[in-house]
Amino acid sequence: MSDDYDVVVVGAGPAGYPAAIRAGQNKLKVACVDEWQNTDGSYAFGGTCLNAGCIPSKALLESSELFQRAKDEFATHGIKVGEVTLDLGAMQKRRASVVKTMTNGINALFKANGVVGIQGHGKLLPGNKVLVKAADGTEKTLEAKNVILASGSTPIRLRSVPHDGKFIVDSWNALEFDTVPKRLGVIGAGVIGLELGSVWRRLGSDVVVLEALEQFLPMVDQTIAKEAQRHFKRQGLDIKLGAKVLSAAVSGNAVDVTYSDAQGEHSLQVDKLVVAVGRRPFTEGLLAEGTGVQLDERGFIKVDEHCGTSVPNVWAIGDVVRGPMLAHKGKEEGVMVADLIAGHYGEVNYKVIPSVIYTQPEIAWVGQTEEQVKASGRPYKTGSFPFAASGRARAMEAGAGMAKIVSAKDDDEVLGIHVIGPMAGELIAEAVLAMEYSASTEDIQRTIHAHPTLSEAIHEAALAVDKKAIDSINR
Ligand code: FAD
Ligand code: NAD
Repeated sequence: MSDDYDVVVVGAGPAGYPAAIRAGQNKLKVACVDEWQNTDGSYAFGGTCLNAGCIPSKALLESSELFQRAKDEFATHGIKVGEVTLDLGAMQKRRASVVKTMTNGINALFKANGVVGIQGHGKLLPGNKVLVKAADGTEKTLEAKNVILASGSTPIRLRSVPHDGKFIVDSWNALEFDTVPKRLGVIGAGVIGLELGSVWRRLGSDVVVLEALEQFLPMVDQTIAKEAQRHFKRQGLDIKLGAKVLSAAVSGNAVDVTYSDAQGEHSLQVDKLVVAVGRRPFTEGLLAEGTGVQLDERGFIKVDEHCGTSVPNVWAIGDVVRGPMLAHKGKEEGVMVADLIAGHYGEVNYKVIPSVIYTQPEIAWVGQTEEQVKASGRPYKTGSFPFAASGRARAMEAGAGMAKIVSAKDDDEVLGIHVIGPMAGELIAEAVLAMEYSASTEDIQRTIHAHPTLSEAIHEAALAVDKKAIDSINR
């Protein structure tokens, strides 16, 4: 049996499903093929992000933060609640239900936009055909004028730390623990290590994070990274920098880990060990012989700035191509490609992709760090504003952190905005918009921000760039 489409998308993660929806909106005949299967055996659209990444992690981050605040902060507000206890089963049930609501939503969106959703494995054949193999083994070939590959990424595994899914686990397993590990080891102090480390620390685990690099969060502005490190230490996250893991082995109901650092070799025993050392592009079983689609030396599908591959009318988007592995980056690429296919304008501004780490305090940034601007040689100025001086943050009992702006000295262009503090991930949207419109610091200075809001921190940081802050002392 053969079906003809204008567009076939392989992968329904946050890159693939928006591409399919936009193609539908552009009146193209579109199918989206996805093979994701959850641990309970159910199939679902939404990819890593909705099923095992962004959404379940944020559900647990929210629940665990509420738990901790109820225990440690409510009394400060004059709220007495008695003993606060954890029902992890209920917390995990809520996490699963948030995920299910979101993934079911994709079915509804597909229907509303005329997308044919197909559950199964897709393989690109030469000549822009996609062979789909359903879970029951049946096969059919889809003919497509355009194919969009959006097969995503998968966790990197370490040979010396053999994954067993029970004691030595990846981020997906660590989102589904049914008991709180007394001792939790995490390899990698990146985004996943810090977010999941925070969840389980708040719920009661003793958490040790082993990070190979000497520098903490090298991709983050170092003023912000240093502030973050202080807070995480205070929260009891034991982050060991310069720690190279030599081996890990399951022994009974625990994991024995050995690692070395500048002081020598150490051993550590934990109940669970999460490996969070990055992700790699996933292309297994995706490309048949002779398609002509090229991969780079790290396994990413090679694409140009418009996500075109080495084969005409075959496109690739999301984690499987170069650039940051972020859901919103993949989404914009998907929308761009679906618009280009329909003959519309499409572009992704890779210079202003925001990043957020959903810890407490939250960390968010866009544009260049101070270190990057310094290295570029362009003269610059900086300004920052502490949340301790924000009335709204104080009212929220959330005065930790700051907003910081790095601007060019020559023409006042905003080069980077960095926030650590309450709702940083929401606050960064203003920064992204400002940079998308090539705002100057003065543009932000002259923009009225409501009082009392957290967003005043961005306003005051912009004023501080020119030593004109009102609500903090200019230095
Ligand atoms: P994926 O989401 O990986 O989706 C790819 C889909 O393609 C999958 O469903 C897969 O089953 C399917 N597939 C692959 N090959 C085939 C095939 N041959 N046939 C059929 N189907 C196939 N990013 C953020 O921006 N914000 C966050 O807060 C965030 N939190 C995260 C938390 C965790 C724990 C993790 C692991 C990741 C997180 N990310 C976050 C990263 C984010 O999940 C990814 O950047 C995003 O999912 C990439 O989208 P994608 O569509 O490219 O790939
Ligand atoms: P990451 O690249 O953010 O961090 C991996 C860390 O592991 C790095 O600090 C690295 O130096 C360290 N590392 C690597 N090998 C090591 C080793 N052998 N021993 C000790 N440390 C080692 O990767 P991640 O945290 O696994 O996340 C994967 C991807 O998922 C990231 O690209 C991220 O963008 C995305 N993600 C995003 C969010 C978010 O946007 N909030 C949340 C989770 C994941």
